[in-house]
Amino acid sequence: MPSEFDLIRRYFTRPARHTDLAVGDDAALFRVAPGMQLAVTTDTLTVGTHFFHDASPRDLGWKTLAVNLSDLAAMGASPRWATLALILPAADEGWIAAFSEGFFDCAGRYGVELVGGDTTRGPLAMTVTLFGEVPAGQAITRAGGQPGDDLWISGWPGLAALGLMHLQNRVQLADAGQALAALHRPVPRVEAGEALRGIARAMLDISDGLAGDLAHLCECSKLGAMLDAGALPLAPLIAAGADESLARHALLVGGDDYELLFSAPPEARDVLAALALKLDLPFTRIGQLTGEAGSILLADGQGASPRPLDARGYDHFAPHA
Ligand code: ADP
Ligand code: MG
Repeated sequence: MPSEFDLIRRYFTRPARHTDLAVGDDAALFRVAPGMQLAVTTDTLTVGTHFFHDASPRDLGWKTLAVNLSDLAAMGASPRWATLALILPAADEGWIAAFSEGFFDCAGRYGVELVGGDTTRGPLAMTVTLFGEVPAGQAITRAGGQPGDDLWISGWPGLAALGLMHLQNRVQLADAGQALAALHRPVPRVEAGEALRGIARAMLDISDGLAGDLAHLCECSKLGAMLDAGALPLAPLIAAGADESLARHALLVGGDDYELLFSAPPEARDVLAALALKLDLPFTRIGQLTGEAGSILLADGQGASPRPLDARGYDHFAPHA
């Protein structure tokens, strides 16, 4: 049985390029470039709440970093360093090896160095703390929205929720491939987040569901929103096999999507269209911010008056969750 130190050396130690001192000492040392602010975020995945007991360790390794990358992307920050706290029920070397591969797949893809962590015994859980850099004063917060801003969403929100419903046998999808990929291997919108600096005025990622996270953006910006039901990007959900009402539900309240929701002035439409092409990532304009603080409405585009959007995203402590 390898010791904890052997496991760390074998599976969690990689050469560091932009870190002064990484895994192996009591603390890591790294330097933020002059003129940059340090952006820090942390997220935990726990068995039973965020994933099933038999989840693929390789996917978990990817996802535990990806969900943190999504939070940094939502600030417009560039990811650089991570720490990893692992709680493991047993030193199952095959499991750890696969987890490590998934983790470093994701780390390598986004230029993140693992600089330290902690390894303890207990019910399976993993916490990443991710450090990134953003030019001082240029981070995109939730609070910068202006009345009249367009609201945009990246990618294909709702797919991950469909994937989860499929796994739970709550829906039969004709083609579950994309939905399961979105659930197990979310692609954090890192390049998009960086490119949106100077364009987006308010931004967050929609890990708790579009409706709930839109409510957060509105609250922080002290504004309201009007969404256009006809503009929601339902096509990929319908292509997977959801009917229209399920597709809309998955898109609006489904969680575990790591897309970006942002506001930008209408003058930015052409720039955003060009950026979407360059990134090969759709940006869909789904509505506008309004001056009516706290009012979040969904217009059906068919003449009926707009109705309040049920803004309950996924909330771990809500009775319905
Ligand atoms: P300490 O007892 O001083 O907390 P540890 O035994 O927890 O030290 O860790 C030894 C070294 O290994 C430290 O540099 C720590 O950051 C690193 N480390 C521990 N667990 C992990 C892990 N899961 N991933 C990356 N580095 C880790
Ligand atoms: Mg320790």
